[in-house]
Amino acid sequence: MIAGIEGGGTKFVCAVAETPERIVARATVPTTTPAETLGAAAAFLAQHDVRALGIASFGPLGVDPARADFGRLLATPKARWSGVDLVAGLGAQGLPVAVETDVIGAALGEQAYGAGRGTRDLVYVTVGTGIGVGVLAGGAPLHGVLHPEAGHVRVPRAPGDDFAGICPYHGDCLEGLASGPALAARAGRPAEALADDDALWPLFVHDLAAGLANLILTLVPERVVLGGGVLGRAHLWPPLRAAVAAQLAGYLPTQRTGPWDAYLVPPALGARAGVTGALVLAAGLVTGR
Ligand code: ZN
Repeated sequence: MIAGIEGGGTKFVCAVAETPERIVARATVPTTTPAETLGAAAAFLAQHDVRALGIASFGPLGVDPARADFGRLLATPKARWSGVDLVAGLGAQGLPVAVETDVIGAALGEQAYGAGRGTRDLVYVTVGTGIGVGVLAGGAPLHGVLHPEAGHVRVPRAPGDDFAGICPYHGDCLEGLASGPALAARAGRPAEALADDDALWPLFVHDLAAGLANLILTLVPERVVLGGGVLGRAHLWPPLRAAVAAQLAGYLPTQRTGPWDAYLVPPALGARAGVTGALVLAAGLVTGR
């Protein structure tokens, strides 16, 4: 058996499986205190004969097994969780363990079983309470000394837009302009309350398309999967694809980046992507891939 844990801000999803597609047991634990949440997840894992564990968690966290901070949450806005050792908290010290960010988990899940199937170079972007980016290059997660924080890249402003942005570090970075909370701050009400023809959507499309064009030019992925609550609005997709194409201005060969409706795609696994990716990580430890 392999096990996968998706660590989220509101809940931890735990699964034990024969393969990432054959889950035999699962449990959902609310995210409260580290001791309570990890203790409950550890108790679930202890009921099974688990040979390897994959963790895909909110971060920032150490993902490099060669470094001392492997499996440890770094300074996080979730105060009680800063510095917490996920591997020890889950009672998994004796097991082969792989750790990645939640967005890498979603990318791995979508690549193996969802909207990224058939690709090796895949970018997963989630637009929700923040903007997160997970990059798979040659099939493997791409990191620097930390995982990429491409949600905080700067983007050119739409003409006439003087919204200051909400990122506490950068103001009008991509996340500061186009995350769900940024939309809510612009509108003075939640993004879900905006009508499809609200005048804010063209600004959102402009800013997100600029961020996506930067990512596509930098990484030249085979496909981009766009998840997160905000992209659940179907009316955004045609103008978003058109805006990305316009921003790239034909620079990349279209046989590599088109057609756009097959290049910029929604996730196929929905809420299952993260835990599936965690199981893909665990399966990789067992098979040596
Ligand atoms: Zn920022």
